[in-house]
Amino acid sequence: MSGAPTDVGVVVVGAGLVGLATARALQQRPGTGDVLVVDKETGPAQHQSGRNSGVAHSGLYYAPGSSKAALAVAGRAALERHCAERSIPYRACGKVVVAVDDAQLPALAELERRGRANGVRVERLDPAGLRRVEPHARGVAALHVADTGVVDFPAVARSFVEDLRSAGGELRGGLELARATPVDDALEVEFTDGSRLRAGALVNCAGLQSDRVAIRCGARPSVRIVPFRGDYLDVAAPDDDLVRALIYPVPDPRWPFLGVHLTRSVDGQVHAGPTAVLALGREAYDRSVDRHDTLALLRDRALRRLARRYWRTGLSELWRARSRSTVVADLRRLVPELDGSSLRPAQPGIRAQAVSVDGRLVDDFAFATSPRCVHVLNAPSPAATASLAIGEHVADRVAQVLA
Ligand SMILES: Cc1cc2nc3c(=O)[nH]c(=O)nc-3n(C[C@H](O)[C@H](O)[C@H](O)COP(=O)(O)OP(=O)(O)OC[C@H]3O[C@@H](n4cnc5c(N)ncnc54)[C@H](O)[C@@H]3O)c2cc1C
Repeated sequence: MSGAPTDVGVVVVGAGLVGLATARALQQRPGTGDVLVVDKETGPAQHQSGRNSGVAHSGLYYAPGSSKAALAVAGRAALERHCAERSIPYRACGKVVVAVDDAQLPALAELERRGRANGVRVERLDPAGLRRVEPHARGVAALHVADTGVVDFPAVARSFVEDLRSAGGELRGGLELARATPVDDALEVEFTDGSRLRAGALVNCAGLQSDRVAIRCGARPSVRIVPFRGDYLDVAAPDDDLVRALIYPVPDPRWPFLGVHLTRSVDGQVHAGPTAVLALGREAYDRSVDRHDTLALLRDRALRRLARRYWRTGLSELWRARSRSTVVADLRRLVPELDGSSLRPAQPGIRAQAVSVDGRLVDDFAFATSPRCVHVLNAPSPAATASLAIGEHVADRVAQVLA
């Protein structure tokens, strides 16, 4: 990389599912030039894309007409086809969303309405119907969502890399973007190792770092990323019937998170989680405190407004995340026979959640442009599910930036 500048059509920053799907879509479009994906890690899917629940979401939760709804529905269908073509583990197992008491019935009805409006196959279940689908789940009512599945997302990411390479594109790991500057009719792109190249355009798919990468590209993003940690517990030696597929609670409408759930992954392992708690480091999987990230959190006006707006929910979630007994109690409301002593800590994840300047959690996917750049500024769940559709959407935006 050192020496004379190299010319590429588009540089994509970030080898998570969104960056790789975008690169794959761009590489397949005539006239874009060759696509180079760079990631500061040595391989693909090292952050959110490799540390999630592994669920291919149906589109049930999202406001009709939102980008999330449209891209999740189109993306899940495309993902299922892609996995079939490439023999990647994908199981169309369906899921249940369970109301554990009458107070949750209005929220369950709203989910049913949203699901139907988004074209998702949703069936209302009474307690006996729920037991037929999930014999150990208990609730006053439930939704069965046939269009949900489980998938091996790291394998999906590897298949995107293969597609990119076989079409002439490239992935380089261990390369961290330092800055990008428009110069004449191109972008001068610099990396932290001192290497540089000229590109026609840049796409920022940097997940937990996407606001910072936008600033490094000269943009002034209207959102900040707040990291929310998600801890998981594995159920040791689960009975085949304890959790047949996916058992979800009715989510708290104040939060964009789905609540701790039970999932049987493609390899048969049952996972419980993830919790949702403010993390004191964007990549602090070991629970360490990142001084830079924590000071940024404390200093940022948007985040202070967020703290004021959500302090009560935030505190109770913090307690929930720290207290294993509270998590177990929540899970046992869904599946009373779950044995707390069978739960073992598993790999955590950290979500990149955008917050607007007025301190609101941004619900929908968010994209922005700056000269010769497209920035993906909010791609939380279900962006892994929707990655193929997001990739096409971002590739359209790149074509506009280059026009
Ligand atoms: C706990 C948890 C559970 C989830 N469950 C689900 C689920 O079941 N289903 C679902 O659809 N979605 C789920 N999601 C959401 C999903 O994982 C993400 O929406 C998706 O993976 C986002 O992909 P991405 O490519 O945008 O980000 P990432 O996968 O985080 O990739 C961003 C990449 O950018 C790189 N990068 C950052 N800065 C730089 C830089 N300066 N230079 C070079 N590279 C850089 C990083 O190293 C990283 O590899 C979950 C997320 C979490 C955390």
